[in-house]
Amino acid sequence: MATYDWIVVGAGITGASLSYELAQTGFSVLLIDRFPTPDNATRYSYGGVGYWAGHTDLTRELCREGKERHLVLSEQLGVDTQFREVDLVLTVPRDRDPEAVAAHYPPFVTPLRRVDVREACELEPLLNPDAIAGAFTVRHGHICPEALNRGYCSAFQRLGGTFQTAIVSNLTREGNRITGVVADGETCPAANVAICAGGISRELLKTAGIPLRLHFTHTEVLETPPVDVKLRSIVMSAEMERFSLEATATKPELEKLWDEPGNELAPYIIDTSAVQLLDGRVRMGQPSRTLSDPCAAVSAAESTATIRSAIAQILPDLADLPATWHHCLVAFTADGLPLVGAIPEFEGVHIFSGFSNPLVFVPPLARRYARYVAGEPDAIVEQLSPRRL
Ligand SMILES: Cc1cc2nc3c(=O)[nH]c(=O)nc-3n(C[C@H](O)[C@H](O)[C@H](O)COP(=O)(O)OP(=O)(O)OC[C@H]3O[C@@H](n4cnc5c(N)ncnc54)[C@H](O)[C@@H]3O)c2cc1C
Repeated sequence: MATYDWIVVGAGITGASLSYELAQTGFSVLLIDRFPTPDNATRYSYGGVGYWAGHTDLTRELCREGKERHLVLSEQLGVDTQFREVDLVLTVPRDRDPEAVAAHYPPFVTPLRRVDVREACELEPLLNPDAIAGAFTVRHGHICPEALNRGYCSAFQRLGGTFQTAIVSNLTREGNRITGVVADGETCPAANVAICAGGISRELLKTAGIPLRLHFTHTEVLETPPVDVKLRSIVMSAEMERFSLEATATKPELEKLWDEPGNELAPYIIDTSAVQLLDGRVRMGQPSRTLSDPCAAVSAAESTATIRSAIAQILPDLADLPATWHHCLVAFTADGLPLVGAIPEFEGVHIFSGFSNPLVFVPPLARRYARYVAGEPDAIVEQLSPRRL
């Protein structure tokens, strides 16, 4: 059995990009995912690349690098990621004061522009003018998330990396040193293991006896087949309720409840939102739930009805389109920054997960982390170490 320099668990955007960058740096890498074709958060993502949203020195720099990376990724990976710019329209509900909503925004590197109802509907003619008090707008990057993920996986394999379809049920360890993984019942040894299993990462680490403050939401989305209706912009809720949900659910006093099945850490929210991919498919949603059990059942029928009724208010032409319901887990952290680094008190195990702005931050951080573990100092990577939580 080969011993790899690295085993990466999870081939969503975090695992695929990290595997590619590790292979570029010269490491031998085994990338493992339980599915041969993705059925994960990356697959159902809207594909928004929010490089306007940096608001600290750290996030501004990552946004700048993220945009720079997206401009060259199609060429480097040999796949059209469909990178483009679109209007992001953040709608303010009719009963809310746009100024009060804006008061909660941090100082984004590109400030959002407030628009009245008329201008919002010019930007997005499908908006229901009677449902909104106005909107905020900014130019937003957009890619096809499946294409980007596929591009990273293919380019990784062209570099000589190995992809295996298997379920990783545990990590192997000698004392506090992680020595590999158990994949489909077989032991696979490696000098280093990187956990990129999205919303399953916490559970997998817990199984191996490694506690980590990494959380996840259950998130739901409807996806249509290609349709003739044309949504010009990406529409999202100006209130970005997901961030309040994440803050509430990660209060230190709730931490223990995450390790017990059957808890709901905070009432579920829906950020009413929709995007159309270049091939005509529309994705719309998006309820998020902080259920402590990653395998908790969510009712497809109820969730579909919730999404359709929220969309009917804001984008009525989309509400009744034929669509399939999907559910996935999305990892996040208590401070909104990703966990990137060796897990403290253990050897040979790393985490690369919990991104709140993943499609911007992941490409530059995957590259930085691969170079960092090869010996290049990196002050940005060190700020994201899991030691901080
Ligand atoms: C509806 C929706 C819209 C979104 N919109 C945006 C957006 O516009 N912009 C943005 O930046 N982000 C967006 N996101 C968030 C973003 O898509 C995710 O945060 C990101 O894709 C997560 O990537 P990941 O690699 O961490 O996880 P995932 O993509 O979930 O990948 C994790 C992988 O790990 C594998 N895995 C898990 N456990 C095991 C195991 N035990 N053994 C083997 N394999 C395992 C899974 O099969 C999976 O393929 C959105 C998310 C959703 C759901």
